[in-house]
Amino acid sequence: MEKIDEELKKIKDEIVNCDKCPLASFRKENHYFPVIGQGSHQAEIVFIGEAPGLNEAKTGFPFCGASGKILDELLESIGIKREDVYICNILKDRPPNNRDPQESEIKACLPYLEKQIEIIKPKAICTLGRYSMKVIMENFGLGDKLDSIGKIHGKVFETKDLKVIPLYHPAVAVYNANMKEGLKEDFKVLKNL
Ligand code: URA
Repeated sequence: MEKIDEELKKIKDEIVNCDKCPLASFRKENHYFPVIGQGSHQAEIVFIGEAPGLNEAKTGFPFCGASGKILDELLESIGIKREDVYICNILKDRPPNNRDPQESEIKACLPYLEKQIEIIKPKAICTLGRYSMKVIMENFGLGDKLDSIGKIHGKVFETKDLKVIPLYHPAVAVYNANMKEGLKEDFKVLKNL
């Protein structure tokens, strides 16, 4: 096994055995899977959503429901394959009734994501939705550039190690074709990176 695969496997084992927040017991009670991440361990782009939904918790794979279909379509629109990027979430476990992540849950889960990013070393992180945008921008020292997602979606923010690009969550386009076109425009930015 390559070193990078081994390191990511170690994180996976830690997440499976994690008991730092109540979402882990919620997962076990419901026989859900943690959703650790999927895609290339050599990815240049990492997409980060908010938290697994029901489909994801039942399968263990990120973005495998309706939002995932939109994400696939958006990737396809710029000629990028899902297997060439890495897709994960801020939270690894599904919150009950898909409620918003709580501060304590984000705090407990964030170290795993930080390690994943450290190991994969992407050139760009695309945040999906406003939660992910806030957590990642603050985490990468871009807190002073934070604004509403309506204002900064599709913009490229540079840090010393990588670029951060806030994007709308694909769920916004599930029932809104206009939003899908807007998202497609934002995705074009990735093509030019
Ligand atoms: N929404 C997310 O933010 N993440 C998923 O994995 C699925 C839906």
